[in-house]
Amino acid sequence: MGCIFPPDQADFLPGQWFDIRLEVHAPQNGSERVPYANPDGNFTFTIAKEGGADAQPATQYFERPEPKLETWNFTWYEDLFAQAADTPSLVKVAAKAYRKVALYEPGQYIATLTYQDGSITQANWTVRDIPTQRRAKNIVMFIGDGMTTNMITAARLIAHQSINGKYQTLMAMDKFPVLGHQMTHSLDSFITDSANSATALYTGHKSTVNALSVYGDSSKDPADDPKVETIAELFHEIFGGGVGIVSTAFIADATPAALTAHTRNRGQYGEVVDSFLRGINNYTWVNWTGPDVLFGGGAEQFYPNSRSFQGKDYYAEFADAGYNVVLNNTALQTASNDSKTLGIFSVSNMAKWLDREVYPANLDISKTAPDGSNDSATDQPGLKDMTLKALEILHTRNPEKGFFLMSEAASIDKQMHVLDYDRALTELLELDDTIKATMAYLESIGELENTQIVVTADHGHGFDVMGSVDTKYLAAQDGDREKRGAVGIYQESGLSQYVRPNTSAPVGSDQNLVYSEGVNFPANVDPRYTLLQGVAAYPDHRENYTVHKQGPRIPAINITGFDDDDYYVNYIDAVTGYVVNGTLPVSADQGVHSLTDVPVFSQGPCQADFGGVYNSVDVFYKMAACLGLSRTTPPQA
Ligand SMILES: [Zn+2]
Repeated sequence: MGCIFPPDQADFLPGQWFDIRLEVHAPQNGSERVPYANPDGNFTFTIAKEGGADAQPATQYFERPEPKLETWNFTWYEDLFAQAADTPSLVKVAAKAYRKVALYEPGQYIATLTYQDGSITQANWTVRDIPTQRRAKNIVMFIGDGMTTNMITAARLIAHQSINGKYQTLMAMDKFPVLGHQMTHSLDSFITDSANSATALYTGHKSTVNALSVYGDSSKDPADDPKVETIAELFHEIFGGGVGIVSTAFIADATPAALTAHTRNRGQYGEVVDSFLRGINNYTWVNWTGPDVLFGGGAEQFYPNSRSFQGKDYYAEFADAGYNVVLNNTALQTASNDSKTLGIFSVSNMAKWLDREVYPANLDISKTAPDGSNDSATDQPGLKDMTLKALEILHTRNPEKGFFLMSEAASIDKQMHVLDYDRALTELLELDDTIKATMAYLESIGELENTQIVVTADHGHGFDVMGSVDTKYLAAQDGDREKRGAVGIYQESGLSQYVRPNTSAPVGSDQNLVYSEGVNFPANVDPRYTLLQGVAAYPDHRENYTVHKQGPRIPAINITGFDDDDYYVNYIDAVTGYVVNGTLPVSADQGVHSLTDVPVFSQGPCQADFGGVYNSVDVFYKMAACLGLSRTTPPQA
């Protein structure tokens, strides 16, 4: 059996660099067993353009020497029975890779792999006809990780007051002129992860779970998989414009990583951080000299320790490359706008809005300080602080060439995973507040009309709100069935209690904080009447529909004495609530992503392009078209 990557149906931007991986498989057992012992190592590979010359050997077409033959074996399980019986299928592989090639002329191409006495595998490729004209100077791409329309609807309910069925204020996203929907499914599965989906958004190529801007091949080395050029690499190389990468996650996480990393394994965090600075040095790849701005968490890949790449000090590596390095919000705010800047503000994921603004004592966790000390990271910026500073630096450093900024609200997803809806929705509101502030800032510097703003997600979670909960009544009942009587549906759902301060709480106390009136946040995060909210797939857990005041929630845990992949209700979580039996395998300790299409909000010179329903990869082509990133001829060496 033959495999070609990029596979059949792949689309390309004209002149986009990519690698080709060819594999010929000889399954040795199982239902796909073939009669020959070894795969054909003398296979041929040709490229033909429809309506053009006859098929040419790829070596001629791309002017590349014949790649060397590689061989390896891999095993896989045909189904769950084979897995339970531990009877893997063995496959022998012969393979070649063509590195850093491109197709410049729009049209249809046929790639043909011929092997084993005439067997043929073909891939039909489309180079889209995308003009080189640049219509926007800058792009700001906001990604609400895991954010769905249902979550935006719920966030609006807790932050904006409705009177007689009419919202008195709206979210920034609500005011965008153009709305589209993108389909998030991946190459080989209908549920995607954030690596796979980021690859689609940044390269225009669908990939597989855990893959960052590569197609996943079957070799052992996660770094040798066929790469595709990303929008950050294209923009950097073609225009020399500034690139900014901002996330509330640990910065080596998938959504920021896929802009510069090329690996089948998103877990190669140290390598990812090295790729931010130096790009990919192996297997012939594009030149990359680092982003202008890199802000987020994940200090454990920076201070010298076993989790930083080769144990090196990446604060020093970035500083040596000319970066200003800042480790807290105070330093961020006073940093010069002239220098490339690395800002790393905590170990792991950054603090959530709810903890920063309402329960700040939760930030006092030892060993979260970004310097690797025993201290806690109590002076952390929010997404808005990071994004506005990133814009200042990008604009100061690239007044003519423009910039591409990706800003990710990562913990919408992370808090949905752990069923912590209050944190997830306030992270979403922080994203909305950031969008609002970004537009005001761009307006103030005269760049709003030059900037295409895209707000989207990489995938969703099956979240919705079904009613309300009287948490006081629920806590006062004894049995699980009685507690469910606290749920109010339809006419009993009432109105949002999050938009009014709790006047019975002491002035200045947590429950009395007021954020509302055009500031985009709940006035009271801990009302008596909360939301009956939840996701469609979850582990065993207990639910009391009350804000988790001690910090992000842990819904399910492993209990001493049981297998370490058996998860049960966390007995110290939501103790006043009732038990909800899980729907996921017992090895799951949190919720999962779902199939839903996700929204794309658009404003700017190319806004109309983003309306309608389309594939996730189209977001890349729309942004690339807006920036004029097509290459019609090979760049001069
Ligand atoms: Zn996720």
